Amino acid sequence: MPRSEHPVSREAISDNALKVLYRLHNSGYQAYLVGGCVRDILLGKEPKDFDVTTDATPEQIKDLFRNCRLIGRRFRLAHIVFGREIIEVATFRGHHQNNDDESKLSKQSDHGQLLRDNVFGSIEEDAQRRDFTINAMYYNIADYSIRDFAGGMQAIKNRKIALIGDPETRYREDPVRMLRAVRFTAKLNMSISKESAEPIKAMAPLMANIPPARLFEEVLKLLLSGQGLDTYRLLNKFHLFEPLFPQLAPLLVHQEGKESKFVELVLTNTDNRINTGQRVTPAFIFAAFMWYPLEERCQQLMAEGGLNHFDAFNLAMNDVMHRQIQRIMIPKRFSIPVRDIWQLQNRLPKRYGRRAYQMLEHPKFRAAYDFLLMRGQIEGGQLLELADWWTDFQEADEGSRKNMLNVLREKEGGATRRPRKRRKPKPKPQA
Ligand code: ATP
Ligand code: MG
Repeated sequence: MPRSEHPVSREAISDNALKVLYRLHNSGYQAYLVGGCVRDILLGKEPKDFDVTTDATPEQIKDLFRNCRLIGRRFRLAHIVFGREIIEVATFRGHHQNNDDESKLSKQSDHGQLLRDNVFGSIEEDAQRRDFTINAMYYNIADYSIRDFAGGMQAIKNRKIALIGDPETRYREDPVRMLRAVRFTAKLNMSISKESAEPIKAMAPLMANIPPARLFEEVLKLLLSGQGLDTYRLLNKFHLFEPLFPQLAPLLVHQEGKESKFVELVLTNTDNRINTGQRVTPAFIFAAFMWYPLEERCQQLMAEGGLNHFDAFNLAMNDVMHRQIQRIMIPKRFSIPVRDIWQLQNRLPKRYGRRAYQMLEHPKFRAAYDFLLMRGQIEGGQLLELADWWTDFQEADEGSRKNMLNVLREKEGGATRRPRKRRKPKPKPQA
């Protein structure tokens, strides 16, 4: 096995990760950094977090660290907690065999999917269980070498994302690996090897077997890591978008359609925000990805059910959200703001009286305004005029704001105001 000619600079490793590695090492255990952090250091990127692997069992790890929490069912792990930084420590994982003894430790579904995976093993076995060759490199704290079990170094040189082992079997074991292949391709600006790319389209429907809560976590990583647009395009290319957003996917068949353009604009904007250190919320993306399905459902309910717009919109919001969460669980703390953003789209045109001022105070005004602006940029016409009006109104001083409202009132012939009660006409003076 090739040893590294690339020494890993100690500065690239967090102090807490070093503490964990040395505590394990000095207690007589093997201790390695593994996975994304080794890969990222070798690529000259700053690792997001540090994962450690060892031959110590979770209980032995717990005995060594006061600040240790044991977690996980599918994978049993130790978290060593240092304030906001958590170092994840896992025991080497072994091969799973389906004999009775081990059935409690590892479990496979009828689709060949791994449901539980708690058999401990050697470092060699651990490497075979990992997903991509670039993710199976181990940095040994005992001699500062890199152990590269699956040809990860070469893959980094060739800029290839390649699964370890037979791609079909590995995707079947865990279909999320298809999403991870796409994610790393975009994040690391690499490409998927021919063998690993080939089965994805046909196997994409297996995504339906993944619990919606896990997909929520994955979708955040896919779309909110600063390469959302590239990732989205790759998801489409590999037919992986449809299982995630089945209501939106059919509306994206025309790349020049407003739906595709809107999604691309929203993702471009989100990437820019992330890459310039601004805040983003998953609620915005989810609101955007369900917006056109919501409009379509609303129109359908008005046409078929004879409902007015207000009722149809409310029902459509419920329908569209309900269908989406069959695939991706959206926690309440995000689904409530999604609804706010949607509902405010109906309120933003109604600016009469004090409403314009009240709108500025709404906690979701900013998100709803950004949303409107992007709709306007795509659809033009009245939507764009409305968005521009709100841009000006926010920037204007008090006098100009009053003026803007007056102009609006005159232009729209009073339609911007609540209709006044008609006074009884005075009797005409008799001649
Ligand atoms: P990121 O930088 O996005 O965190 P990562 O490679 O560290 O990327 P994690 O999800 O943190 O990704 O996983 C850590 C490591 O665990 C991976 O590098 C890989 O070795 C292994 N791993 C994670 N998910 C899987 C999986 N579904 N199948 C096999 N191995 C996996
Ligand atoms: Mg990681």
